[in-house]
Amino acid sequence: GADRPKNVLVLMSDTGGGHRASAEAIRDAFRLEYGDEYRVFVKDLGKEHAGWPLNDMERAYKFMLKHVSLWKVAFHSTYPRWVHCSYLAALAALYARKVEAGLMKYNPDIIISVHPLMQHIPLWVLKRQSYQKRVVFVTVITDLNTCHPTWFHAGVNRCYCPSEEVSKRALLEGLKPSQIRVFGLPIRPSFCRAVLNKDDLREELEMDPHLPAVLLMGGGEGMGPVKETAMALGEALFDEELGKSTGQIVVICGHNQILSSALQSTEWRIPVKIRGFETQMEKWMGACDCIITKAGPGTIAEALIRGLPIILNDFIPGQEVGNIPYVVDNGAGVFSKSPKETASLVARWLGPDRDELKKFSGNALKLAQPGAVFDIVKDMHQLVQQRGPMAPISYSLTSSFS
Ligand code: UDP
Repeated sequence: GADRPKNVLVLMSDTGGGHRASAEAIRDAFRLEYGDEYRVFVKDLGKEHAGWPLNDMERAYKFMLKHVSLWKVAFHSTYPRWVHCSYLAALAALYARKVEAGLMKYNPDIIISVHPLMQHIPLWVLKRQSYQKRVVFVTVITDLNTCHPTWFHAGVNRCYCPSEEVSKRALLEGLKPSQIRVFGLPIRPSFCRAVLNKDDLREELEMDPHLPAVLLMGGGEGMGPVKETAMALGEALFDEELGKSTGQIVVICGHNQILSSALQSTEWRIPVKIRGFETQMEKWMGACDCIITKAGPGTIAEALIRGLPIILNDFIPGQEVGNIPYVVDNGAGVFSKSPKETASLVARWLGPDRDELKKFSGNALKLAQPGAVFDIVKDMHQLVQQRGPMAPISYSLTSSFS
């Protein structure tokens, strides 16, 4: 029933750029598909708590990655036991309070988690508050392959997996096939629906209109050997004999200001654009011919949609490792840790080996899933419809706390 707008609460954390991008993708797709039928609230549970000792989610997250077993024990044993671990208890208390406040304030019909640490506590709060019959809870996984087990919780209504590899993990972690859907990674509609012309973009972005272009980035935080690679490209894309450039570089540093100022103060012989955090990534990608990036799932999925051949030069241990074979085995790119090697490959791709570049580009487009975010919101819409305003409970939530 479309009597009142339905509320959607998206739980994310602004670590890196990927979680926010996914949250925004879902928000925008709801707006495009259903207009005023849904109101979407994106809540960053990590940032809002100024003064809280744990508001640095990145640190907490890394701690968790290092202490997976502790995390598991904490959440698969009973409440009294895990409150004794002060760190976890503090984290849990933060989430529990935030989630409860969110429930009071936003009265959500759907809660969407796009974060590996935001299943257990929200579901526990829902259960404790006897909300679980009214609220649809779903997880949207944003890692393409080797994702962390805390992403999976048997109590969700749906777990949206970006790839078959992830859905296999979901099954191994005890989710039922009926809970799992594989549509792809949600990418912002501004990406998948954009009709972009390379020449127009280059003019708009004040790039050289003729020189082929390579985009160099490292996720939202500007991670990886970006500086070294930029330097190497500066050499490789300059023809000493002719004394002119054979290509241009766009470096997107994200939030890494140290990186951007280091690059700004460098002398370049070829055209280079150095940018901070950009909000229109689809334009920069649309203006370039290939991309060098760490193995972030968001950047990879976006580059695939734009048909950009990908050189992966770094990865976050754990969840990003699996993104490398995903790209390389599907012929959409290569992996190289060496800035020199990367630069000479780019010089070949933009020069004599154009055909190879085209082949990679075609494979990238084949792998792209631009419609995933719309499939995801349509499925959520169906879940809400099935539940209906007064519908009997058609699912049961089980929690690892019980
Ligand atoms: N991004 C952006 N502006 C920037 C740098 C990055 O919008 O200046 C976006 C990028 O398009 C992608 C996300 O941030 O959607 C990065 O996600 P990814 O999964 O690649 O890596 P993370 O930053 O989460 O480690």
